[in-house]
Amino acid sequence: MMSEVWTRTLWLLLVIVGLVFAPITLFVDPLWGGLAGISGLLLVLIWHLVHLSQLMVWLEGPLNNPVPRGRGLWEIAFAGLHRRVRIRLGQQQVIAETLERFVGAFQALPDGVIAFNRHRHISWINARAEKHFALSAAVDQGQALTNLIRHPDFITYLDAGNFENPLIYRGGRVDGLTLMLQIIPYGQDQNLLVSRDISQIERIETMRRDFIANVSHELKTPLTVVAGFSEMLAEDYDAYGEAEVKHFLNLICEQNARMQRLIEDLLTLSSLESDSSAAKEERVEIEPMLRSILADALALSAGKHVITLKVETPSVLDGCANELRSAFGNLTTNAVRYTPPGGRIDLIWRVVQGQGEFVVADTGIGIQANHIPRLTERFYRVDRSRSLETGGTGLGLAIVKHVLMRHHATLEIESDPGQGSRFTVRFSERRVRS
Ligand code: ADP
Repeated sequence: MMSEVWTRTLWLLLVIVGLVFAPITLFVDPLWGGLAGISGLLLVLIWHLVHLSQLMVWLEGPLNNPVPRGRGLWEIAFAGLHRRVRIRLGQQQVIAETLERFVGAFQALPDGVIAFNRHRHISWINARAEKHFALSAAVDQGQALTNLIRHPDFITYLDAGNFENPLIYRGGRVDGLTLMLQIIPYGQDQNLLVSRDISQIERIETMRRDFIANVSHELKTPLTVVAGFSEMLAEDYDAYGEAEVKHFLNLICEQNARMQRLIEDLLTLSSLESDSSAAKEERVEIEPMLRSILADALALSAGKHVITLKVETPSVLDGCANELRSAFGNLTTNAVRYTPPGGRIDLIWRVVQGQGEFVVADTGIGIQANHIPRLTERFYRVDRSRSLETGGTGLGLAIVKHVLMRHHATLEIESDPGQGSRFTVRFSERRVRS
């Protein structure tokens, strides 16, 4: 490039000297030759100055101004500049795209991310962090982190400077949210605050703890009875008369049966919960199934209630026979157990506007409205002693709920305390054939 500049300059000088200065000096007058040579040089100078001013205007203009076009030497110089500008713009675009991809990735993270510097000023917030801390990236960027997250636990964690262990953060600006926070220092005095929503995990953990406590509690009473009487008999069998021994053995058997029922219900519930696949699709004939449930109910009632079955629309239901039998059976046995002797229980199957409907209506003790939403929770009982007296495990309606969920069916509970209850199960049109 440089040699080209020198060559062109030499050619220009040669043209001025050879074609202007020398012939005029030789054939006209040396004075006119000198004047013509100087004028030529001045013209060249002016031409360069025009191009130089174009360059200055371009340099002072906005970055995206196109490079000016020149002629001769300036064409070469401007072409070089143009090439550099193009390369630089290309590089900038690559950097911008890479940056955009990184920002996109950080935005897509399921965790919240806040970047802040050593003065604790926020430089960037992703969308998840905005939700976790009720912040707005547009407003809060540049603010001091500790002005926005002021909880004493967080300030202590930040001041302590030991970020090996995460901080479990409750009681922030968003109600009911539990976050796991971790600060990750990076680069030069830069930090990331990463937040993860663990509310759901915490809820599940609480449920698991409650469940274990409940099961242990349910097993403890019958076990204590069984252990107490068996120890008494083992220690001094002869000290008791035949009738007493029989009574103790009866109590032991009763409590054993209670534990067995509990374990069976727990196993049923656990298999329903752990089986994430949809319920088996068998063709379940409704009438024979309800007749067999009616027979069980009559046996349980032992003639103390009037129990009727009315199949208004004989139908076939698509679903799992065992699960459906267990759910319908539970609702029916509950009706017998919570209806005092002399009461009435009606089992009805019908198809209403294509939907299958199973109704269990009793004239029993009824349920107060405030208990109804919680009845399907595991171990929830309105009256614990009545439930135990009648052999309840507290898991019946939880099983019903799971079976119905697996069949996309709904359960409606209506009750009038002292008057009776009505449990209605509804199946979608898709499952019912009349
Ligand atoms: P349990 O083994 O205690 O009966 P369930 O899960 O079957 O457990 O029922 C939960 C609670 O709902 C029962 O303890 C009882 O208080 C109430 N309940 C269920 N069915 C009836 C009913 N037909 N009438 C009155 N109360 C009922």
